[in-house]
Amino acid sequence: MTPDDLKQLVRTIPDFPQPGILFRDITTLIGHGTGFARSIDHLAERAAACAADAIGGMEARGFIFGAAVAARLGLGFVPVRKPGKLPVPTLGIDYALEYGADRLEIDPTAISPGQRVVIIDDLIATGGTALAATALLRQAGACVDHALFAIDLPDLGGADRLRAAGVAVSTLMA
Ligand code: 5GP
Repeated sequence: MTPDDLKQLVRTIPDFPQPGILFRDITTLIGHGTGFARSIDHLAERAAACAADAIGGMEARGFIFGAAVAARLGLGFVPVRKPGKLPVPTLGIDYALEYGADRLEIDPTAISPGQRVVIIDDLIATGGTALAATALLRQAGACVDHALFAIDLPDLGGADRLRAAGVAVSTLMA
């Protein structure tokens, strides 16, 4: 299945989580065995080409794609978590997102200095989440120069913002 075929498996839900928002829902993509597997194939191929040492994925949907890619490549997975979830001292960052504000946290001991962490999430919209994850992982000593997303919403400019921060961006579909 090509990325164009995979796009047919993503459904668009109007007015979620707020009126006027067209939410791209991956439930139907990951619920399709071949579609999910091919999505991971495409992302893993790109992550391997980045010479990733580890994969960083954002809670929650970034865990689905990121963990599967990490396991496929035999790499460790660094969870970039919502606040208050990790049972150890954390590094955190507050950031604005499309529908409000949020915070991300990591366990800084999960990063070795200079380790190349490739970021994976289901979707990039404004780029706020990915920029925050990049800043956080860099603060912990990681080299973050590649990010992969299943879906890009190009009108919201997130991929361009991430590129301006020195992160090469690759997406499967828009
Ligand atoms: P950004 O921070 O780039 O504005 O938003 C991207 C983050 O919000 C990602 O973690 C993504 O999971 C979530 N997100 C925002 N809009 C959507 C959407 O339409 N569909 C999905 N699946 N996730 C979204």
